[in-house]
Amino acid sequence: MSMTIYKSPKPDIPLFNGSIPEFILSSPHLRARPNSIVLTDAVNDRSLTAAENITLVRSLAALLRSKYAVNPGTVVAVYSPNHIYLIAIHYAILWCGGVVSPVNSAYPARDLREQLSTADARLLIAFTGVPSMGDAATEAVSTLSSCSLVPFTALCDDALANLRAGDGPAGDPVKLTKPAAETLAYLCFSSGTTGKFKGVMTSHHNLTSNVLQTINFDNRIFSPEGVYAGFLPMSHIYALTLHLYAAVYLTGRLIVFPKFELEPFLQCIVRYKMSHLHLVPPILILLAKSPLIDKYPQIREHIFYLGSGAAPLSRSLGEAVKQRLQPANVRIGQGYGMTECTPVTHYSPLDQPDEKLGTIGNLVANVEARLVDPETGKDVPRGHEGELVVRGPNIMMGYLNNEEATRATLLDGGWLRTGDIASVGDDGFWTIIDRSKELIKYKGFQVAPAELEALLLTHPKVVDAAVVGTYSESEATELARAYVVLAPGVTPLEIKQWVDGKVAKHKRLYGGIVVVNEVPKSPSGKILRRILKERKGDVVVGM
Ligand code: AMP
Repeated sequence: MSMTIYKSPKPDIPLFNGSIPEFILSSPHLRARPNSIVLTDAVNDRSLTAAENITLVRSLAALLRSKYAVNPGTVVAVYSPNHIYLIAIHYAILWCGGVVSPVNSAYPARDLREQLSTADARLLIAFTGVPSMGDAATEAVSTLSSCSLVPFTALCDDALANLRAGDGPAGDPVKLTKPAAETLAYLCFSSGTTGKFKGVMTSHHNLTSNVLQTINFDNRIFSPEGVYAGFLPMSHIYALTLHLYAAVYLTGRLIVFPKFELEPFLQCIVRYKMSHLHLVPPILILLAKSPLIDKYPQIREHIFYLGSGAAPLSRSLGEAVKQRLQPANVRIGQGYGMTECTPVTHYSPLDQPDEKLGTIGNLVANVEARLVDPETGKDVPRGHEGELVVRGPNIMMGYLNNEEATRATLLDGGWLRTGDIASVGDDGFWTIIDRSKELIKYKGFQVAPAELEALLLTHPKVVDAAVVGTYSESEATELARAYVVLAPGVTPLEIKQWVDGKVAKHKRLYGGIVVVNEVPKSPSGKILRRILKERKGDVVVGM
């Protein structure tokens, strides 16, 4: 088969061969600046230096190994909002050779249980200080005989008490017995191109490679001097790679927010001189439009770089934000990627002209790409759009215990199907045009239509159902909308409320619900989502 392979404009870079903890310990920045503050809690101003963070990691690792039997291969799920100790918990699990499965802190018990059982987690470290999370964690674990619950705060208190008592922290990180590219480090969850959520097997090598690929892209975007905004959820690979690792490896300072609220966020930009903000489009729209921006004009003195990721950023929104922040010359760019790519494959050059704002920039080092016809899998001629297929050291090992999905996504030769339709110009700038996969993204969070459809079909009065995304310009996000065939005796609003009461907040039917006579399907029974997306004049209930 003839292939047209596009290369990164950057030369290949040397990668790291070893575990993630070894990678962190090898950081020249960590050695040079052990006393720099790397983590600050935006709510109570508590901070950790680079050296204190590593000492905490060692103490947590000793405890996890001796008290909770975390050994090579043990899967530990972590269910917590962002917290300054969360990073140390991740490193400590990896230090013992364990595997981290981060769980979205908005998950109710049902979703949490599903992730614990799919990942075969032996331990759940949960932030039980939030009552709803404590309840969900207790409920989820009560039905799983092989998984125990450890409260986040108790674990950290124990580790800190051991440190105060002078208990010698654990020795070196566990040595990998297999190559880093074959050793599992993370199990994040993604629906991929179709179906329900699957465990994405990310190796130590995937993660260390993607950190190096991103920080080498431009050392002004990822700089040890940067003060980074850390509110993106650390359960998602975007924050994991960019914040947890790039900022901590670089010993930049990460200001950690347990949740996002605009005004405190603006206050923190000023208080901590936050310079590097990695955001999602719905937040950029607030920066473009909210009257609060005028209350904090000083933010313009501090913001050096605004990066958008996880969903498309339009050129017009990028330009509107730039305009709003004038006279400061704020650089805006986007990163593109997916959980399966750990995540970054494309990044915008820092000094790109404004006309490139709606693009996703260039391929990062060591990544190759092709554009294929989604139906035939054949490469399209140069200049044509096609499904983006990528290859590189950051591409996942596969989906956990799901050969079928792995085979459908990871092609021969290590190429990964992204399910996104893209084009590339002669100048090496890439544009995402559309998504051919089922995925809906609500404010950067994944919503899998198949999951909502399966839930809808469990309602006795729902005869058939399909869920598609509809775009909201005002919120710069997609919203999930259900099309349902209903039996008599129920209203669409009742169905919407029933769904919204059962799912995590980001999976609610914010796009409303539409009653139809039938769900359009192909002869093989596949939902024809495009037909639903193109319908006009529907009566939408509950939007
Ligand atoms: P996730 O695995 O949750 O990171 O979701 C990955 C998907 O988010 C990609 O396959 C795209 O559909 C979408 N995505 C991520 N970044 C961008 C971007 N900069 N522009 C357009 N879509 C994006």
